[in-house]
Amino acid sequence: MTAPIVLWLRDDLRTGDHPALHAAVSSGKPVLPLFILDDAAAGAWRAGGAARWWLHHALEALEMPVLRREGDSATILDEVIEATGADTVFWTRRYEPFAIGQDRKIKADLKARGIRVASFPGRTLFEPFGIRQKNGGPYKVFTPYFRQWQSGLGHLVCLPRPDATRWSDHGLDNDDLRLLPTAPDWAGGLRESWRVSEEAARERLDAFVEEALDSYAKDRDFPAIAGVSRLSPFLHAGLISPRQIVARLQMVEDERTFAYLRQIAWRDFAAHCLFHNPAMPETSLRAGFEAFPWRDDAERLRAWQEGRTGFPVVDAGMRELWQTGYMHNRVRMLTGSFLTKNLMIHWRSGLEWFHDTLVDADLANNSMGWQWVAGSGIDAAPYFRIFNPTVQGERFDPNGDYVRRFVPELARLPAEWIHKPADAPADVLDRADVRLGASYPSPIVDHATARNRALEAFRNMKAS
Ligand SMILES: Cc1cc2nc3c(=O)[nH]c(=O)nc-3n(C[C@H](O)[C@H](O)[C@H](O)COP(=O)(O)OP(=O)(O)OC[C@H]3O[C@@H](n4cnc5c(N)ncnc54)[C@H](O)[C@@H]3O)c2cc1C
Repeated sequence: MTAPIVLWLRDDLRTGDHPALHAAVSSGKPVLPLFILDDAAAGAWRAGGAARWWLHHALEALEMPVLRREGDSATILDEVIEATGADTVFWTRRYEPFAIGQDRKIKADLKARGIRVASFPGRTLFEPFGIRQKNGGPYKVFTPYFRQWQSGLGHLVCLPRPDATRWSDHGLDNDDLRLLPTAPDWAGGLRESWRVSEEAARERLDAFVEEALDSYAKDRDFPAIAGVSRLSPFLHAGLISPRQIVARLQMVEDERTFAYLRQIAWRDFAAHCLFHNPAMPETSLRAGFEAFPWRDDAERLRAWQEGRTGFPVVDAGMRELWQTGYMHNRVRMLTGSFLTKNLMIHWRSGLEWFHDTLVDADLANNSMGWQWVAGSGIDAAPYFRIFNPTVQGERFDPNGDYVRRFVPELARLPAEWIHKPADAPADVLDRADVRLGASYPSPIVDHATARNRALEAFRNMKAS
């Protein structure tokens, strides 16, 4: 048996535009794709429930004979090397702090034993260390980062999907990774919402470019409209590469693509920020916020998680998340603002809930998003910018269609009242069959009072 190259797969579950796979195939040796579920290494940031569901389907759909194992990555790599005589290991670089530490150690150990190791780019367009300010330091503000990102793009060419790959005939057994929920099986809404495969990602990108790209800048804030790409879970697990996306955009005229390109750059920026601020998922990056008087309020946290706050657009968002594993960006911002400002609950509680329930849960994007919302992060929204959930609902879901979809008990309320059922006249509620406090909750906080309380806490924090 010719010694194979081990292709250690992580969040790069695709065959197209895959530098590590491309190099492995080009070597002419048989390729042994290996996936290791190593929860202990990721610790608190092990894939959450929804991301595990996604991972299961991504592995099933991957057009490679992947060997699946569970356990300590270094031990399993050793076993596979021992059993097959492999003398080379390739992988795509990851940028989560725990992953960087683990990869470094494994690389050093394998090299010390004479195994050839090479790591490749592919997760982001520009690697987190590839863009720097003139003084050599990392960026802290998005706009100048984006300028440099854009000017460095050039004409992108993707690697083709290899044909006629020689897969290793290793005869090793798979572990059962048990990634799907069983008792209870809560994944029905996920199954209805997603088709998980590399082909589905390509089709989604094509459909987005043809049908929604032109109106993206205008529609991207309206959750009832199919105005965004919903490519985030595909990007997170690597079913599509950011280069494939930007190369596709380069096939249409520049002025149509600016707003969308910017979002892809935000994703690179998040990886840049996490790489240079490894504490970002745990600690507020702005001075003072760790001393902010965050509230420990399990009951209200639960009401928020379950979409029972009495603020319809917040509840719609939280229920969309629970049912489909996804939440629209505008609604992520306003549910996040509600948790951190109206309820004054620590952004980390929101981050952890999103980590467990999002199919696109991504440590860089999620922790940057939460610190942005809370006002504690890099280039963040100022804390005193507190969204009014009723006004946000009226502005971004003017007909109430998004609320009607996810909060069916309010479906018969007219648009005028759908974002403020607590203010609606009794006869309007009667006709819509809404019984406040029974069929739908009364607001769990008064917005004006909560806003003043949060602003006062913020002023005290600044003063101390
Ligand atoms: C509190 C909070 C938590 C978030 N958590 C995550 C997360 O865990 N995983 C995740 O992928 N995104 C996260 N985001 C960013 C953003 O909400 C999602 O990327 C976006 O909603 C995904 O939908 P889409 O693919 O339709 O986006 P589109 O609007 O179609 O954008 C295309 C792609 O650009 C990237 N992108 C868009 N907006 C952002 C952003 N603000 N920051 C970084 N990248 C962005 C994503 O990869 C996205 O798929 C979070 C945002 C907030 C405010």
